[in-house]
Amino acid sequence: MTHDPADTPPKFAIGLTGGIGCGKTTVADLFAARGASVIDTDQIAHALTAPHGAAMPALLEEFGPGCATPEGALDRARMRALVFTDPGARTRLEAILHPRIRDATAAAALLANGPYIIYVVPLLIESGTWRERVHRVLAIDCPEQVQVARVMARNGLDEAQVRAIMAAQVTRAQRLAAADDVIVNDAGLDELLPQVERLHLGYLDEAARLAAIPNGRL
Ligand code: ATP
Repeated sequence: MTHDPADTPPKFAIGLTGGIGCGKTTVADLFAARGASVIDTDQIAHALTAPHGAAMPALLEEFGPGCATPEGALDRARMRALVFTDPGARTRLEAILHPRIRDATAAAALLANGPYIIYVVPLLIESGTWRERVHRVLAIDCPEQVQVARVMARNGLDEAQVRAIMAAQVTRAQRLAAADDVIVNDAGLDELLPQVERLHLGYLDEAARLAAIPNGRL
């Protein structure tokens, strides 16, 4: 992985990813409960685009006042519709958001005081640039039918809507092929806990090894 010297000392970092509804947040919370520093890029993106969020001035300048809700947050539904019909708009949106998300995650990483960092990055495999920022990629995996059922129950969407979101993400097979570690989340918490515990102990070991190496390369 690459490391900006300004970030010294480097910390062992895991990129946690998974398709919609696979259980990224559920699993990240279990790691956080064991002391990991969890940095959620979705939460950061929401903060940047909330009323008075740091990305809002640039977004308003680029897309005009119509891109914001009356409260001053990014109108996500409107932007989703825009980028769906206009690929150039997606590029312009990402050009504003991605560097700010990168800076905010780097700033959060400097403040992280856990033994290792877990970045929650829904589109880690899709993004291309995240792989080099983490030592390991952890995929949360479950069958597509379980994904569909969970998101339908949680978001009140119908199956076609959930499958449309899934179609814009890499396939389960592609994600598994890109992962170093996998947590299978197709049952209850009882099955999740031993998997999290085993990986947590391994990550603690790796973090200690990294901390003992001067230039931070494993
Ligand atoms: P998103 O991609 O939408 O952010 P996510 O991958 O973070 O989702 P979660 O929010 O953790 O997924 O889980 C999706 C839904 O499924 C939640 O309502 C969560 O409570 C539920 N869920 C996750 N794992 C399990 C499980 N093992 N057993 C039962 N319900 C679960």
